[in-house]
Formats: sequence, C-alpha cells, structure tokens
Amino acid sequence: MPTGSLTRRQLVAAGAVGAVLAGAGGLGLWARGTAQAAYLRPPGAQDEAHLLARCDRCQRCVQACPYDLVQPRPLTLDFPTVGTPELLFKNGYCDFCMKCVEACPTGALSADAPTADDIGVAKVISDACVAWDWGGCTVCVDRCPVDSAITLDEHGRPHVDEGLCDGCGLCEMVCPAPSLRAYNAATAEKGIYVVSRQSEAAALPGALTSAELEAARTVLAAGGSHATEKGGRHE
Ligand code: SF4
Ligand code: SF4
Ligand code: SF4
Repeated sequence: MPTGSLTRRQLVAAGAVGAVLAGAGGLGLWARGTAQAAYLRPPGAQDEAHLLARCDRCQRCVQACPYDLVQPRPLTLDFPTVGTPELLFKNGYCDFCMKCVEACPTGALSADAPTADDIGVAKVISDACVAWDWGGCTVCVDRCPVDSAITLDEHGRPHVDEGLCDGCGLCEMVCPAPSLRAYNAATAEKGIYVVSRQSEAAALPGALTSAELEAARTVLAAGGSHATEKGGRHE
C-alpha cells in the first residue's frame, strides 16, 4: 500500500492496535513460537524482540520513506506484529537514506544498530530464476549497486556474496522473471528475494528452491548474524 494512500483511519487503527498490545502486558513479553516469521525490517531495526517491544506503531517510518518501501504489517494472525514496519520492494529499493530511522521516535529503528547498513541478504531462487533455468538473464548482476555482491558462475547463473550484499532490494525489484516465465503456482514469482538475516533462509547456503524459501522464512533459533565487511556502493 503506497504511503500516500494510507488513510487517517488506517493510521489511527494501527496506533490503536499498538496501544492495546502495549496495555496487554508489554510487547516484549509476547511468547514466541518456534515458527515465528522473520520479517524484513527497515535499516536500523533492532532484533525482533526489541523491535516489537519498542515500536509504538506510530507509522512515522512508513510516512518518511520516499519510495514507499516501508509498510505497516497488516492485520494477520501474527497479531503482535500488526502495524510494525516491514519492507516491500515492489516500487523501489532502499538507498539507505535513513529517513525512516530519523523519523523513529522510540529507538525501534536506530542508526547504531548493526542493521543500519545491512537490511538482509538476497537469496537466488533456483526454480524461479530465468538464468538457472534457461540462461541468458543478467539483470540482477547488471543492476546491483554493490561491487561483486552478485556475480555469474561459469554457467551464467547468479550467485550472491552474502558478506557483501546489504539487502537493498534492487535485484528483487528489477528481476524480470514474472514477465519471462509462464505462471507456475509452485514457484516463487521472482528469481531473487531479500530475506532477513535473522531468518533460517539466510542461514541456508547458496540458492534456495521456492519451497525452501517459503519453509525457511522463520526466525533462526540461535539468532541472526550480520556481515561485517561491506562492498563499495557505486550509485
Ligand atoms: S533508509 Fe530510506 S529508502 Fe531505505 S527504507 Fe528507510 S526511508 Fe526508505
Ligand atoms: S534478474 Fe532474476 S531471473 Fe534474471 S538472473 Fe537475476 S534472479 Fe535470475
Ligand atoms: S540486495 Fe542489493 S546488494 Fe544485495 S545482491 Fe541485491 S542488488 Fe545487490
């Protein structure tokens, strides 16, 4: 949902949900299941427990992002996350402008957090990527703004250097797989997706199948890790 289309009613509703949850004993006390989803959060997001505890669902980060990437989590069964910020790369990618972080009044997003320059990591989806199937597509490699974060192997297939990738989402946004492949409900739409580094998907090595991606979009039991060395951005 674009920022501009957020209605006053939606903003009030999101705030009300946060108030109800906060009054119900504190968001940080929410009991977590082993299959808790690992959402892709904006730069500077605290780990999931701290983000849920600190975020007051005010939607200021949603309104601050110039590219409408930051969206409030919708009303789902994962109730404690409703109204917290999630990144969607449908209309753009993150250039780390930090406007969402600057707009956050609670510290749920912080310039000091390890995620301030590392949103997540891109995972190639082997049964959805055109290059893994037929070959010839180099769009993600050509557009990635981080030197050597994604390269082609000897078969012309893209591979992500997970230490260099910062999860900006440009590859996911521009991947043309949905327009080049026949619709197949069994595979992901795009040939590449950015996932949270706190997710099991991030911990799996190399490319994933669509089924592996779906099964592993959950929080890694031992917690996530962040890359320590970043490549130079050339945009
Ligand atoms: S850093 Fe900028 S571009 Fe990235 S999510 Fe925040 S506001 Fe949007
Ligand atoms: S842009 Fe998409 S389809 Fe093309 S090589 Fe990259 S992941 Fe595969
Ligand atoms: S998420 Fe960004 S840095 Fe990572 S491979 Fe994709 S375009 Fe490159």
